[in-house]
Amino acid sequence: MKDFAPQPPAHGCRNAPVLKERGQREVFCGLTGIIWLHRKMQDAFFLVVGSRTCAHLLQSAAGVMIFAEPRFGTAILEEKDLAGLACANEELDREVDRLLARRPDIRQLFLVGSCPSEVIKLDLHRAAERLTQRHAPHVRVLNYSGSGIETTFTEGEDACLAAMVPTLPDTNERQLLLVGALPDVVEDQALGLLRDMGVAPVRCLPAHRAAETPGVGANTVVALTQPFLNETAAFLERRGARLLSAPFPFGEEGTTAWLWTIAQEFGVDADTFARVTDAPRARARKAIAAAAETLRDKSIFFFPDSQLEIPLARFLTRECGMTAVEVGAPFINKQIVGPDLDLLAEGPVIAEGQDVDLQLDRCRAARPDLTVCGLGLANPLESEGMATKWAIELVFTPVHLYEQAGDLAGLFARPLRRRALLSGLEG
Ligand code: SF4
Repeated sequence: MKDFAPQPPAHGCRNAPVLKERGQREVFCGLTGIIWLHRKMQDAFFLVVGSRTCAHLLQSAAGVMIFAEPRFGTAILEEKDLAGLACANEELDREVDRLLARRPDIRQLFLVGSCPSEVIKLDLHRAAERLTQRHAPHVRVLNYSGSGIETTFTEGEDACLAAMVPTLPDTNERQLLLVGALPDVVEDQALGLLRDMGVAPVRCLPAHRAAETPGVGANTVVALTQPFLNETAAFLERRGARLLSAPFPFGEEGTTAWLWTIAQEFGVDADTFARVTDAPRARARKAIAAAAETLRDKSIFFFPDSQLEIPLARFLTRECGMTAVEVGAPFINKQIVGPDLDLLAEGPVIAEGQDVDLQLDRCRAARPDLTVCGLGLANPLESEGMATKWAIELVFTPVHLYEQAGDLAGLFARPLRRRALLSGLEG
């Protein structure tokens, strides 16, 4: 039978030594995830229990939403409001009552914790239970932390989905559960490909609306769409679901490997798989080849940020001809990114966590052609003449699956082209 599994290198990185760093880190906090989660979950509201800093972060990350009634907000806890925790809880309850009275369209309300010590003292889990009782059955209230002390920016989505898992209904139905907040256009493509192969039923977490919330149980097979969903995956396993082990669907090869793993699980034969994927695979290869002209033989250095680093390093080295110098990730869970590590040829430093000054020293010494990092590091590195790519763009841009594979490669090619242009002008 024809096999669509990718050919691993002689020596992959699964067993490569991992440089573990536990120093200062420069990453956005988990509140950032609200920006893409609120677009996905159309009857949810995210109420950040936090400070003015949190409100500013959300406002600047989301842009100013003047015309739309936003589906996130900040309940600001001022120090002077906190004569006692009882007061703060009453204030929170009043805020929620006011919000839900004004917005009857809200069906799911997330209380999102943050860093200020006043917030940490509040028991938001208890508050969510209390408010669920008060507003059931119309609204379910859940809580999670997006605090910068506890979460890096993509961990906010993980914490949000993990909070939902215990509330999912039980089901014994044999089903595929796609887990991760994909942009609608990408989710539709995934569902279309799976439908054409005959994989059914397929459900999504998160769902667009509370009424479409999937069930979970022993016959649920989970395909993660994002590599940062460690806690969610563990919670789903505790509910009896089984996790598929596959590379993530970035690039032609990653998408094919991800789909092929699902296809094998659901008994799709190789001919059907080829009939459904041949055309989009060819389109993806062609689109990647165009961007790869700029990327080939260029070196890349990843600071730990989005947790997409390992699958992206696999894509950029294998499909675009780049050389990875260092691949840093905030956390490395080999159960989840192991298949990508298997495909990443040994060579780069694999680093977990961060000690930002030490990593900057390594990066400056290596002088990579392209550095993937957060906004705070990008500006200084650019001023030193290094080309950078903001990691946050990778979660705000549709980058999964075949039709976006060219755009994904293009995201990395653009800063190199810009720098080449600028140096041409300077010369
Ligand atoms: Fe709020 Fe903490 Fe995030 Fe700053 S790091 S925006 S205080 S949650």
